[in-house]
Parts: sequence; structure tokens; C-alpha cells
Amino acid sequence: MSRPSLPAPEHEPEAGLAAFPNPLAADPALESFLVQASAQLCRWWASSAQRSPLPGLSVLPEVAPARDGLSAEALLADLQLVMDGAYNPCNPGALAHLDPPPLTASVVADLVVAGLNNNLLAEELAPSLTRLERCLTAWLAERLGLGPGSGGVAASGGTLSNLMALVVARHSAGLQGRSDALVFCSADAHVSIAKALAVMGLPPSALRPVPVDGEGRLDAGCLADGLAAARHGGQPVLAVVATAGTTVRGAVDPIASIAALCRPQGIWLHVDGAIGAVYALAPDHAERVPDLGQADSLTVNPQKLLGITKTSSLLLLREPQRLASCFGTGLPYMEPSWADAHGGECGLQGTRPAEILKLWLGLRQLGESGIAAVVDGAVQRCEQLRQLLQPLDLELRGGPLHLLAFTPRGLDPAAAEAWSIRCRQDLLDQRLMLSRPLYAGRHHLKAVLGNPYTGNSELEAIAALVAESLPGQVRPLALPIPG
Ligand SMILES: *Cc1c(COP(=O)(O)O)cnc(C)c1O
Repeated sequence: MSRPSLPAPEHEPEAGLAAFPNPLAADPALESFLVQASAQLCRWWASSAQRSPLPGLSVLPEVAPARDGLSAEALLADLQLVMDGAYNPCNPGALAHLDPPPLTASVVADLVVAGLNNNLLAEELAPSLTRLERCLTAWLAERLGLGPGSGGVAASGGTLSNLMALVVARHSAGLQGRSDALVFCSADAHVSIAKALAVMGLPPSALRPVPVDGEGRLDAGCLADGLAAARHGGQPVLAVVATAGTTVRGAVDPIASIAALCRPQGIWLHVDGAIGAVYALAPDHAERVPDLGQADSLTVNPQKLLGITKTSSLLLLREPQRLASCFGTGLPYMEPSWADAHGGECGLQGTRPAEILKLWLGLRQLGESGIAAVVDGAVQRCEQLRQLLQPLDLELRGGPLHLLAFTPRGLDPAAAEAWSIRCRQDLLDQRLMLSRPLYAGRHHLKAVLGNPYTGNSELEAIAALVAESLPGQVRPLALPIPG
């Protein structure tokens, strides 16, 4: 039997670039398109050091589709315009946020994920990738100490992981429909916790921020008082959230003390390790995030320090079956799951890409030693910057991780804000990008030392510009005018 011939496409694109991959034969035009796009991306990376981390306003290409489709050449030219205006995380001075350069194998895996176009919604739409997600989340959960039988699910970002964790916590405690249920977390916890409660239909008063100590860690004594008050007031506690790596200074809450308060009362402990949990994969630095294994659920964001391309977040649970008990619907239009549950039954998302592939390939690319080196490099750079800034008249706010925030001593809030704007601009003029968080009532500058290409020269330049920016500092005299 011969194959039916395909109807000719109505509009044969000019350059011979097919709109869909040909299932019958190799397609040189398509291969060339992919090769050229890769080469264009490689040139963008290779010129990163010559461009500011934050580009100026750029020209946008035409937004709406033209009457007829464009050639490969025209598509690549339009792409270049968008690339020209993109944030540039590979510049060695890109230190503002938790957005490092991308791990190269995860870029390749992202391309392949798009090409496979599988759907983690259901096993028959992603057979091998479903198993990969199940196996890798189980490996990681066990590796982070959650015990045998632990596992989890990938999510499009830590905000979603935290939301799912709290929804599962509420379901497990049987507190659905209770508008008086409370969540305790540190005053420095991530904004996604407040967002989650809003999505869950809880009033803002459901969130109980617990004061932090001088190092930015949740004060366990205050938490004990808060839990006792809730108990006496008859208010149920849905969960306690500990943060392993706060967003401004990288503080790590005392998880063991917090777990000791939760366990006797049967309260769910969620650890938001979006920043810090990957430290537990580096043997020399695992002690910076101790006791992650005491969590009932744990958020990990490999998209942050490890550079897995966005998005890459995981929600890991000691008892992963709780995900499907909470989110399962039976998925009536799919074949039954051949294992525990379909990917679309273990969380909020329905159709979702197989983001697990780029995490898997990225971790395989790094290996244990590469993972340890990424973490170690970040810690070393943070320590170097701390030493350079130490002699200056600054309040330094750091922690055990690779984040360091600082502000001049003794400024009032308005003066601190003015300083932060000026100093950030002075730094940007030298292609050094820091962020400007408001913390403890005053603006700070913050460096995140996750960029492996940041060297001593960038760190020294930051310290020199910060020194010059300080109030009362005499600016170095300009060079004498010749003649
Ligand atoms: C980044 C971050 C999140 C949220 O992760 P997204 O991927 O941005 O949604 C949650 N918690 C902490 C501590 C974070 O730093």
C-alpha cells in the first residue's frame, strides 16, 4: 500500500520553510533554520560582555502577523530585534536578581521539549517524560532528606509550588472552607505566600508574619507564642512556612526548632527553599541549609542558582500521594494512569510542558562535582564582596547563601532611597547591575552572586563605586587639565 499523498500547502512559504515538521523525510530547510537560530543565539551569548546587563529601549519588530508568512531569514531578523532588547544575564556584571546565565544543556533540552511537544497532563501524551518527572522528583526528594517514598511534581515557578503546597496542607488538615485558618511565616517570607492565601480565598489577616532576628531568621520563640495564642483562641493553623533563603538577604530559618513546634500539634511544615534548597546538593555547603528533610513539603527552584532555564521549580513532599488526593479529578477523558496518577492530577496545572527534561539534562551536564562547583563559586564570590565592603560605613545584610544587601549607616529612609537610586545608576553606567530592595524600612542595594562569570574585577569595581557614593565621601579629584 502506498502512502496517501499530502495535499500541497495552500501558501508555499517563500524560503521553503515548512510550517510543520515533515514526518516523511528529512527537511534541509528546517535543519538550516534551527542551525541558524542556534548560531544567532550563540553570537548573542558571545557578545554579552560588550552589552549592558540592562539594554536601553530597543526597536520592536512588527507585532501582528503579515498577510503572508515570513521566510526563515525574515523571522531570524525579527528575532534579532527582540534579542537586542532582552535582559542580558550573561554579562559578568549582571548581579541584580536570582536570574543567572542559562545552563547550556538545559537550553538544548528546552528546544527538544518544544520539538517533542508532549503534554505532562497525561501519561499517554508524555509516556517517557512522565516517568522521568516521577523518577527525578523522587530522587531529588530523597536526596534532600524527605525520606523513602517521597517525591513531587514540577511547576511553572516557585509561586505555584508554594500555592500548591498550601492547598495540599489545607486539604490534609481538613480545613477547606475554614476562613479563620492561619498561616505563620517569617516577616521576610516571599510575597508568593500572601498571594497563595489570596487565591485560596483567605483574608489578609490569615497571614501571621513572625518577627525575624538580627540575621533575618524567623524567631522561633515568637512563633511559639503565636501558635499558643492561636490554640487558645481556637483558631486552626493550616501551615507554618519556613524559608530556606529569604529573597533580600538569603537568611535561612531555624527549620529544626520550627519543626519541633509543628510536629506535636500536627501542623504542616512547608519549607520555601526556592533559593536555598539546592545548597543541600553540595556536600561542602549543605550545612548552610540544615534539616530540610523535616519538612512535609519543600519548594525548590533550580531556575535560580543552578541556571536551569525558566521555568524550573519543584514541589516535593514527604508523601507525594497527597498531591493526587488533593488535586485529582479522575480526568474522565483519559485512559487510566498506569502508575499513581497522571501529571495533570498531581497539581493545579493541566496542560504543561515537560520542564523536567531541562532539569534532568542540566543536572547530568553538571554532575555532582559541577553542582558543587556552582554553589561553591557563588559562596566564594559573596564572601569576597563582603570582605571588600566590610571596611566601608555600611550596614551589611547577608546570611549563609550568595546574597548580600547593604545600605549606608545612619541614613534616614528618604536619604537612603536617594543614595540607592544614585548608586545603582553609577553602577549601571559601568555595566554593573544590582537591585534596590526596600528592607527594614530603608532602601538597600542587593547583589546576588550567582553569575559564574563575575570575577574579582567586577567585585572590586562595585566596592570602589559604592565607596565613592557614600555620604561625606570626597569624590576623587578629576585629573588635572593638561596645559
Ligand atoms: C523566587 C522565590 C519564590 C517564587 O518563585 P517564582 O519562580 O519567582 O515564582 C518563592 N520563594 C522565594 C524565597 C523566592 O526567592
